[in-house]
Amino acid sequence: MRIGIDLGGTKTEVIALSDAGETLFRHRVPTPRDNYPQTLQAIVDLVRLAEEKTGERGSVGLGIPGTLSPFSQRVKNANSTWLNGQPLDHDLARLLDREVRIANDANCLAVSEAVDGAAAGKALVFAVIIGTGSGAGIAINGATHTGGNGNAGEWGHNPLPWMDDDELRYREEVPCYCGQKGCIETFVSGTGFAIDYQRLSGKSLRGAEIVALLEQQDPLAELAMSRYELRLAKSLAQVVNLLDPDIIVLGGGMSNVGRLYQTLPTLIKPGFSAVNAKRRLCRRSTAIPAACAALPGSGRWPD
Ligand SMILES: [Zn+2]
Repeated sequence: MRIGIDLGGTKTEVIALSDAGETLFRHRVPTPRDNYPQTLQAIVDLVRLAEEKTGERGSVGLGIPGTLSPFSQRVKNANSTWLNGQPLDHDLARLLDREVRIANDANCLAVSEAVDGAAAGKALVFAVIIGTGSGAGIAINGATHTGGNGNAGEWGHNPLPWMDDDELRYREEVPCYCGQKGCIETFVSGTGFAIDYQRLSGKSLRGAEIVALLEQQDPLAELAMSRYELRLAKSLAQVVNLLDPDIIVLGGGMSNVGRLYQTLPTLIKPGFSAVNAKRRLCRRSTAIPAACAALPGSGRWPD
């Protein structure tokens, strides 16, 4: 049995898979925020719960919104900042009495989708998580490309390209946790979307609540979404020009906004990309990425 944990900024989910890849158990809990010991405990509790429910002991893999430094073996680049600097795999191995493998969640998503998900068989996959934060991962021929420093895919901390006057103001008002200003993550994460809506409306709502307003033709929600689409398109256009991926996969809470699969391709192609090759954009498939064993995909962008 394989146990995968997806440690998100808001939710932490466990999935237990049989050796044949069948889902035996899954469960999610809120992620304890700003507290490393409680985060460790939540992960340990989920593993124990999965083993209690299935009656089996499993190997454990963990997808995190950051990466382990290949030099210090400690977490870096996590937008769940209380993980940074911690020897997470070492601590979990001690608590669970077994090896625990950790990978960046967006890299897990890219590989999972490339192996048997929505990007199955594609040679070059760019996967983007647009949730509490924003991360990206690259899979080449079904394997992660992490880079010599573990930094590959840190696209979210490039500056937003082609900023207009309002985006320049946003850059000053909403600094990134990484210490820079104007990072793509601050604009295209679900958190960034909610902040922009708050700047427009004065109301503090969660992303899902704003999307619900969108369905009621709320003009400010529509304005926030059209700005969001343009920002995500500009940011992805740079990836297209650099990597020319065969497919871009979206995951995270904002990936559930169905219209993105119609609007983004239109915005990316004529507006911002020098390349005009046919490519596809799809929604992540349904399994959580940490187990790197996703189910067949959905929400594909038609050719
Ligand atoms: Zn940043």
